[in-house]
Amino acid sequence: MNVPLLDLQLQYASIRPDVQAAVDRVCASQQFILGPEVEAFEREVAEAIDVPFAVGVSSGTDALLVALLALDIGPGDEVIVPTFSFFATAGSVARVGARPVFVDVDPETLMLTPETVRPAITARTRAIVPVHLYGLCADMPPLLELAARTGLPLVEDAAQAIGARCEDGAAGAIGAMGCFSFYPTKNLGAYGDGGLVTTADEARAARVRRLRNQGMEPKYLHHEIGGAFRLDALQAAILRVKLPHLSRWNDRRRANAETYRELFDEAGLAGRVGLPPEPRGRRHVYHQYVIRVPQRDALRAHLARRGVGTDVYYPVPLHRQACFTGLTAPDAAFPNADAAAAEVLALPVYPELTRVQQAHVVRSIAEGLS
Ligand SMILES: *Cc1c(COP(=O)(O)O)cnc(C)c1O
Repeated sequence: MNVPLLDLQLQYASIRPDVQAAVDRVCASQQFILGPEVEAFEREVAEAIDVPFAVGVSSGTDALLVALLALDIGPGDEVIVPTFSFFATAGSVARVGARPVFVDVDPETLMLTPETVRPAITARTRAIVPVHLYGLCADMPPLLELAARTGLPLVEDAAQAIGARCEDGAAGAIGAMGCFSFYPTKNLGAYGDGGLVTTADEARAARVRRLRNQGMEPKYLHHEIGGAFRLDALQAAILRVKLPHLSRWNDRRRANAETYRELFDEAGLAGRVGLPPEPRGRRHVYHQYVIRVPQRDALRAHLARRGVGTDVYYPVPLHRQACFTGLTAPDAAFPNADAAAAEVLALPVYPELTRVQQAHVVRSIAEGLS
């Protein structure tokens, strides 16, 4: 049996006529940059995420970049980021000339916490970037409290968490700004690159709009230096087709996670395989279903032989990346991130996955661990 980590063909087959009509509509209009499709998508996605303002941009990476620029973060500034995340969380900070300050993560949720953030705050700190890793909201109530006490904005990296919720609201709608990615493999994926910045602050939304389009407002008058960070109309039109399905697709991912929980339990593996945490009051959207096992690489090789696709998010924490050498003190330790990097393994959880396929995955894991 073949169980790929992700199969986007099945989703495409289910929406193909609508996607083709959307692409045809944009081609017929010959309006490819910004315009009515982008504006309509921004309205629709703002309503879906439950946030006042949404601005389409060129990628999740550029969403982070533009959000930091809109907060006037630059050289001399520090931004606190978890060391266990996708590269862009910290790369965007360095790209605007600021310094990413890495902090360790909670051993269970693998996300930053007020306890790890607090000692890293200095007079130069300008923002904190919680990452809603794998589709689960970070523990926002104490982070919001810390933000309120210190005056530091929270820039949510919600690239993996569209549709996730916690006590304080939807991922990306809680802090000062939210950043989303529509990379094709994300829960809401475009057919190319795309991203989104969200905020409840109208003036900040206007600033993001200006920054994404060369800092220009009105035409040919440049108040500041932005870039070509626009979401294109073809992607917006395709995302408009997919958005109405998102909630159902996320529900399917959640149901698959529940099925894994049952299957691991029945196989007697619950004690030997670390299952993803789902704290009460938080709606996990399982962008990734990530287990933890000490003998990860051997298990991964065994699963590959059984036709089960897996991946490791992420094998090297950010404080160990060559491009960030010198940013952390030689004696700084990030034991929870290092342990996670050695043990995490993402299993297939995409919406169209079947129970029979999941049973094959769990049976293959049981074999591999025996
Ligand atoms: C995917 C991702 C990004 C970057 O998004 P792109 O659209 O690929 O630029 C940033 N942060 C996290 C946590 C991500 O998973």
